[in-house]
Amino acid sequence: MRKIRHFSIFIGFLLFLFLFIPSASHAESKDTYEVGTSILNVRAEPANNSSIIGLLSEGDQVVVFQEKYGWVQTYYGGEEAWIAKHHLVPVSITEKSSHSVSQAASGKITVSARSVNVRSGPGTDYSIIGSTYSGDTYNLVESSGEWHKVSLANGSTGWIAGWLTNSSDTEEVPSNTNSDNVVNVPTKQTTDKSLAGYNIVLDPGHGGKDPGAIGLGGIYEKDVITSTTGKVAEQLRNAGATVIVTRSGDYFVSLNERVRINNVYNTHAFVSLHYNAYPIIAVNGVSTYYSSESDQNLARDVQASLASTVNMYDRGVMQADYRVLRYSNAPSILMELGFITNPNDLSIVQTADYQSKVAQAVTNGLINYFH
Ligand SMILES: [Zn+2]
Repeated sequence: MRKIRHFSIFIGFLLFLFLFIPSASHAESKDTYEVGTSILNVRAEPANNSSIIGLLSEGDQVVVFQEKYGWVQTYYGGEEAWIAKHHLVPVSITEKSSHSVSQAASGKITVSARSVNVRSGPGTDYSIIGSTYSGDTYNLVESSGEWHKVSLANGSTGWIAGWLTNSSDTEEVPSNTNSDNVVNVPTKQTTDKSLAGYNIVLDPGHGGKDPGAIGLGGIYEKDVITSTTGKVAEQLRNAGATVIVTRSGDYFVSLNERVRINNVYNTHAFVSLHYNAYPIIAVNGVSTYYSSESDQNLARDVQASLASTVNMYDRGVMQADYRVLRYSNAPSILMELGFITNPNDLSIVQTADYQSKVAQAVTNGLINYFH
């Protein structure tokens, strides 16, 4: 095992050299960057504790004017704004043009970035209508500048940034890159009812110095939530929703900040995700909370969808005055997705299968609520 690990590190190092040394020679086009994470905070100052003045999504491009302490300065809403540089990928103009030429010739587009937005038009100003992942291949309909219009599985079309794709031979995509996407296939064939036009704020509870509940074996609630949120965000995007997350990594976000992010947007629904804990290990199951009476229907629809999708005890819908719900302008719910202090729940909630089912249940519950 140890030899294999050393070998992988060596291969990883070679890949690192291969990927990064050539890009360094394209230094002349370094002032445009693309967001390489699903959601990225835009801050007023170059510091983690500075106030958040906006959010960017994966694939959004920023022009950089200066750099300071690992932060880059751009403009957001006409104001000077700062973004952590390690979430940005340099966009090389020479790479972009060579890619689009070969893509147009081949008639097929294969996504090369890990996760890419599908948009309604050729530019980052157009709304996000879905997501696609590394290894996914589409028929090219037409190209406009650096953007490619492709046929989607549901019969419609969407636009993908050309520089996040790789035209060459689709057969060259390693099969293990595809395996991650197999799970997503059923969710992409979303029915006629969709979440297109809806802005959903996902709120992964806890993070950073706040681990949330601590379960059996020292499992942290925040960690199980993080992986679950990724799946929920993905399925919501596949259903057409615009998804905003209140934290996109393991860092602390105050309750007030979560509320603020939620209220900054024209949010149609706010969904806070949690796992539960209780001193008595027999206590188990899933529940959904709401604060204001007007949010009861949202809680009912999502809990009903959850209870019929997962094999967990249904604790039902409950009212509670959680701060993130009380001060939210949009319809808001808080989901408790199982007890990490119950051995059976814990064994289930950590599986990718369960988290995918939760994602499906939240998506269907929201579709039922909105339609
Ligand atoms: Zn919690």
